[in-house]
Amino acid sequence: MESKRLKKIPEKVTIPLKQHDGTICEAIVKKGDPVLIGQKIGRSTSYYSSDIHSSVCGEVLSVEEAPHPNGNKVMSVIIQPMDSMETVEFVPKKDASSEELVTLMQEAGIVEHYGAPTHTVLRPEGKQIDLVLINSTASEWIGGKYKTPKEYASKMIAALKLLMKVAGASKGAIIVRKDDKESIEAFEGVEVNGKALEVAPLVGKRRLGHYFADQGSNIIVASQERIYGKKILNFFTYNVTGRKVKIGCDPTDVGVAVCGVKSAKALYDAVHEGRPFYETVITVHGTKGCPEYMLVRIGTPFKDIIEACTFEEDVGKIVANGVITGVAQYTDEVPVTKSTTSIILLSKEEVLRDQSLACIHCARCVDVCPVSLVPSRLSVLADQGRFDECRQMNIQNCIECGRCAVVCPSKIHILQLIRYAKDAIAKAYADAAPKESSNLKLGCSGGE
Ligand code: SF4
Ligand code: SF4
Repeated sequence: MESKRLKKIPEKVTIPLKQHDGTICEAIVKKGDPVLIGQKIGRSTSYYSSDIHSSVCGEVLSVEEAPHPNGNKVMSVIIQPMDSMETVEFVPKKDASSEELVTLMQEAGIVEHYGAPTHTVLRPEGKQIDLVLINSTASEWIGGKYKTPKEYASKMIAALKLLMKVAGASKGAIIVRKDDKESIEAFEGVEVNGKALEVAPLVGKRRLGHYFADQGSNIIVASQERIYGKKILNFFTYNVTGRKVKIGCDPTDVGVAVCGVKSAKALYDAVHEGRPFYETVITVHGTKGCPEYMLVRIGTPFKDIIEACTFEEDVGKIVANGVITGVAQYTDEVPVTKSTTSIILLSKEEVLRDQSLACIHCARCVDVCPVSLVPSRLSVLADQGRFDECRQMNIQNCIECGRCAVVCPSKIHILQLIRYAKDAIAKAYADAAPKESSNLKLGCSGGE
């Protein structure tokens, strides 16, 4: 599926100075400054940050707080674009050392869709990474930017090698979705280390370790079931590698760096073309012929993207990044950020159908919870503000997969209630240490 470029230049772009976890950037431009495409407009000296660039050629209108898709207002650089595609000079760095690549990643503004600056995932302080994974199971097809799917596949392999170089990792793998035939066909036969690639199916207990040995290669491509949600990294890591990650920890604690397709491509572009991360591919769901894959500039207002899509009914709700785990938007003026993966459009009729009813105690939410919580009870306690009891019932172990909300016949907003309680608990118990769940079914229950 090809991604199409949003051709219209927005009347105004709003580029938030916080596009990732960690330290917010400071603006290095001010009202009235001219800017070019790719020009740095925000930076931070902290390791836990990543620079920010203009996605348009134009003039800075202001640096002020503006709506962000996360629901808050965030300090942003607001730019009035001109009808020009003038860029700063892009300088490729194909021979960069691994140390230089770390700096390059930070300066090119490369971040993961789940929020972490990518260099901090590859080089976590005090930890050593031995395996890099590119998780393509939850990503949209971005091959449309290349002439052929094979070109896309070759560049992804090259990007994986770069990520491994930065991390100092000896092994790397790209994980595609089992039903993503386009990607599987694209990778089949691509030459890696002098051998034609065979996409390995991860079934049963056959995990990556088996195929690294079987194929005699340190770089492989494997297929896996589709995995949803931004906070599902620990499960993903366990499912493909067998390495268990404790609750409260992340894959880097077991030597695994999980990167996304977009950050891998952004690294490839930065190294081979000298281009920083200032545009991204998103999916738009709910439109005719959906999902639509669109290549858009960071900072483009959602309303410009929605206007360019074919949505035949009245839009009742706009949700960023997934209908279950995403955030409903209160304005269509919010901009695309580096963490935006999708925009979901719901008609007024669909929104009205989503009214909550009383819990019928069917226990479906309990059955599907992968970390053995009791979502029905937690949602009631959260709704009543009984956060201590939520904590006693291990609400922190919720990975926000949204399965409970999907199966609930009463359409109770279980996930939103759980998130509300988790936020309240996080503020009240800022010093609470991560702890291991005693009722965990799989994935995150300690070392191997
Ligand atoms: S979102 Fe629901 S199903 Fe998923 S982990 Fe949390 S409580 Fe369990
Ligand atoms: S799935 Fe919904 S209705 Fe059923 S027990 Fe859970 S919260 Fe109640």
